[in-house]
Amino acid sequence: MGRMSETRSRKSRLGLALGLALMAIVSYYVSTTVEFNPITQEEQRVALSVDQEIALGLQAAPELSQQFGGLDAADADQARLDSIGFALVRKSAAKRTPYKYEFSLLADDRTINAFALPGGQIFITRALYDKLNDQQLAGVLAHEIGHVAGRHGAENMARARLTEGLVKAGEVAITDESDSAGQKAKMAQLVGTLVSTRYSRENELESDDLSVRFMIEAGFEPAAMIEVMEILSQGGAAGPLDFMSTHPAHGKRIERIRMAIEKYGR
Ligand SMILES: [Zn+2]
Repeated sequence: MGRMSETRSRKSRLGLALGLALMAIVSYYVSTTVEFNPITQEEQRVALSVDQEIALGLQAAPELSQQFGGLDAADADQARLDSIGFALVRKSAAKRTPYKYEFSLLADDRTINAFALPGGQIFITRALYDKLNDQQLAGVLAHEIGHVAGRHGAENMARARLTEGLVKAGEVAITDESDSAGQKAKMAQLVGTLVSTRYSRENELESDDLSVRFMIEAGFEPAAMIEVMEILSQGGAAGPLDFMSTHPAHGKRIERIRMAIEKYGR
């Protein structure tokens, strides 16, 4: 191989790499959009439309529920969860979001956690539920509603460059009703990704802020959010899911909650 052709092949490899990088960047911008969020009053880049968020959440919900012991059989507790959850939605700005909120008590009595899927599916484990009075439970649910209203799942997917697989999966969630093994495996993988993707530090602080706002709007006592933080730090909660996430530090979150309580006037 002569010197000329060697240079040429190196050039073409470089060209190919640049081309691929460019394609990736273009596909990122094509598959995500910047949308104004009327609740947070901020623009955000998201990887899913509202309809895709709802479809994805609905389809992932049974899988997630199974991972935490399935739905809890205690009807009275589920009724209490619904009553507090829907009071929060009905009386706060969350009412103006396009999401169909649903609150589910999961039977897992060892894992302390709560979680929100994109589109409005909200879960709390028995282990966490049993530690909370009404006000504190409202705090946890308001925080999860904050993740939904803040569209944090859709935002994370855009940010984490998961768009390719996840948007495709989102489309599948909407169009493909088939129950094939491949479909199930894909959904299990998708749920795994949703569950293991931590919300960013900014997402957590924004949800803490929104939780105080929603609580005040709905007539709950926002200082209960500080108690929730204290309960969780005593419980030694640490792990992959939402309330167990170790960041930001509890102290930082409590500070933010205090600021929000002043900001929203209480
Ligand atoms: Zn959170």
